[in-house]
Order: sequence, then structure tokens, then C-alpha cells
Amino acid sequence: MNFEISSEHRLIADTVRRFIKERLAPFEAGIDAADEIDPAMLRALKQDVIALGLFGYNMPAALGGPELSVAAQSVIDEELGRTTMPLAEAFGHLPGSLRLVNEAQREWLIQPLMRAEATIAYALTEPGAGSDLSAIATRAEKVSGGWRLNGTKHFISAAEHADFLLVLAVTAPQEPLKTKLTTFIIERGNPGWKNLRRFRKMGWHGHPLSELALDDCFVADSHVLAQPGQGFATMMATINNDRLMVACKCVGIAQALTDLVLPHVRQRKTFGTALGEHQAIQLMLANNDVELDAARLLTQKAAYLADQGSSEFRIAASRAKLYASEMAGRVADNVMQIFGGAGYMADLPVERFYRDVRAFRIGEGTSEMQRLQIARHVLLSA
Ligand SMILES: Cc1cc2nc3c(=O)[nH]c(=O)nc-3n(C[C@H](O)[C@H](O)[C@H](O)COP(=O)(O)OP(=O)(O)OC[C@H]3O[C@@H](n4cnc5c(N)ncnc54)[C@H](O)[C@@H]3O)c2cc1C
Repeated sequence: MNFEISSEHRLIADTVRRFIKERLAPFEAGIDAADEIDPAMLRALKQDVIALGLFGYNMPAALGGPELSVAAQSVIDEELGRTTMPLAEAFGHLPGSLRLVNEAQREWLIQPLMRAEATIAYALTEPGAGSDLSAIATRAEKVSGGWRLNGTKHFISAAEHADFLLVLAVTAPQEPLKTKLTTFIIERGNPGWKNLRRFRKMGWHGHPLSELALDDCFVADSHVLAQPGQGFATMMATINNDRLMVACKCVGIAQALTDLVLPHVRQRKTFGTALGEHQAIQLMLANNDVELDAARLLTQKAAYLADQGSSEFRIAASRAKLYASEMAGRVADNVMQIFGGAGYMADLPVERFYRDVRAFRIGEGTSEMQRLQIARHVLLSA
């Protein structure tokens, strides 16, 4: 493995960082305070990212994406950690399972998504099923020409304004988990898709999470992703990439917090000396530094394994997601402590990072699910 950042990756990182600084950062505090983003403004920002050639950066060329290596995508994800969740949407990270679309779906689904004329949300979680997907209760019953779906999904990111919804539902209740689920594509305007409410939440302001009902929702056969019974497989096909993406974002958050705190400890004086001269502060800075470096190395190793097509990628992505999401929480806590009262005030983004980062220990597989998976791997390989 080569630890030197290539000139191509440097260029990508610099481009994304500049775009965030110049185009996204001016909106961050306002969107966070209002807990709202103007969809027209977001669409306009997406057009600018399309012009940069980076929109849908995790998509292959066959779907109109830039066909970046996982290592290059990781560079973008890390930079996106510097901005807020709703504004990071400007770069159009799309559900990886869309790689499984057929020719017709490519036209009516992928093309508008890649032109940033439409958005999509991914609905797995239900009131009775989160970590345990075998408990999914949303049912899809076969009817003439399609399927009839009934169930409730909750905590669904960006479903409120989405034009399409990917939904995981049970199609063969008697079958094992691997074959009992199917992924459906539902279009806005379908009378069976009803957004019920938006949750009030701790962070990710401007990025709504919704509860929605599928009420005798008819979905045509043409709107099945992959084949009936392949819902679990479609989800698993990209879960490792999604976990790595979260890990990289957490590294980006910790780096952004570090960039904020270092000038502060040099400039702020207490008891006649700069904060950074106090040993108690130095210990926190040292811990942050080591943890950030360790997390970044875990993400780089996982990205490397992904690009090699290694079967070790799965566990490497789990390790990176677990460690980086917990690391970023500890770094945010230390940085808030170092800033004192100023860290708690909304004048600085420290308190926002502190709130936002907490969700990463829950989404894309909780810390406990990662530990279970890693423990199983350790025990099996012993
Ligand atoms: C900000 C945010 C965005 C989200 N966006 C989406 C989205 O777009 N689409 C979507 O479908 N979902 C989304 N989710 C939901 C998320 O995927 C779930 O919250 C997550 O999978 C956990 O499920 P749960 O909340 O039902 O918790 P549960 O599964 O009920 O777990 C509760 C707690 O128990 C622990 N636990 C469960 N089983 C075990 C066990 N066997 N051993 C030890 N501990 C265990 C868990 O780790 C967790 O700490 C989002 C969540 C958040 C917070």
C-alpha cells in the first residue's frame, strides 16, 4: 500500500474542498438553524457539481457517473465530512444498489437522477425492524401486473421531497432472509405512498427523516429492482461501500474540528499562557491526532481492499465504520471541551459537528452490529 496521496486524488480533494468553502459553507449555519433547505437552491448547487464532473460520484460510467475508484470516492467522502448533511447532497451520492437497474429503469430512473432533476430515498427501517432486517413486516403481495405493498417505514432520509423511493419488502414470508425480500421502486404521485410525518431530531438539520406508509400501494413488475427475492442481495451488494463512506465522512469531520481547534489553542490565553501550552489540553490534542490518523488509515486500507476486489473488504469496512464513527464523537467532545463555552455556542460549528456525528454510530449498521460482525470474523479466523 502506498500512503502518499496521488496527484489525481489531491486534485479531487482540493476541488471538493474549494467548492465546499466557497459554495456550501456560506449556507451551513442558516440551514442548520432553520432545519430547512431550499430544494431549488440545492438543485442549482447540484448543477454546479455536474459541471465539475463529480455529481453521482459513486456511480459507474455505464450509469453516467465518473467511474471513480473506491479510493477516489473516499477522498470525496472525507472532504464532504467538512460540510453539513443536507449540503453534502449536492454531490449526489446515490444508493449503490442502483447499479442493478435494467435498461428501461436506466432511462426513467437513472437519467433524471444523474441530471439532478429527481431525488431518491432508501426505505429499509420500520418501527419494528432496524438492525434486525428479518423482522421487516412490510408485505408485497403478487397481483396482476405487479405487487401490492402494505407497511410502514420510518427514519427515512430525504423521503419527504423524494421523487423515487427504494423499498425493501417481504415477498416470500416462508423463505430465509436471503431470499424473502424484494426491492421495489416507487414513484412520487403513487397514491399508495403517504408521507406521515417528519421527525424532530438532534442533528442533521435540513436533512429530513420521515415516517411513511405504503397503503395498498400498487407497484408494477417493471419497478422491481433486480429480481423478486433479491432484496437482501441488492442491499448487501453495496453495504460495505456505504459503511466506508460513513467512516470517511467521520474522518472529515474530525479533520475539520482539528482545523478549527489548532489556531484557537495557539491564540487563546488562560493564566497568562496559550491554551496549547497547558499539558491537559496537549493530552487531548495528542489523543485526537492519533485517533484521527488511525481512523484514516483504516479507511484507506478498506478502500484499497475494495479496489483490489478483496473479500477482506467487508470486514475492513466494518472496522473503519466502527472506529471512525466513535473516534469522531470523541474528537468532537474533546474539541468542544477545549473551546469551553464558545464550543457550546452556535456561533461556531463545533456544536453542530458534535450533534451531527452522533448519528453515524447508529445509521448504516450500529456500532453493536459492527462489533458483532467483527467478533464473528475474529472467532472464525482464529
Ligand atoms: C440520522 C439517521 C438517518 C437514517 N436514515 C435512514 C434511511 O435513509 N433509510 C432507512 O431505512 N433507515 C434509516 N435510518 C435508520 C437506521 O438505519 C436505524 O436506526 C438503524 O439501523 C438501527 O435500527 P433501530 O433504530 O431500529 O435500532 P434497533 O435495531 O432497535 O437497535 C436498538 C439498539 O440495540 C442494539 N442492538 C440490536 N440488536 C442487538 C444485538 N443482537 N446485540 C447487541 N445490541 C443490539 C443496537 O445496536 C442499538 O443500539 C436512519 C437513522 C438515523 C439515525
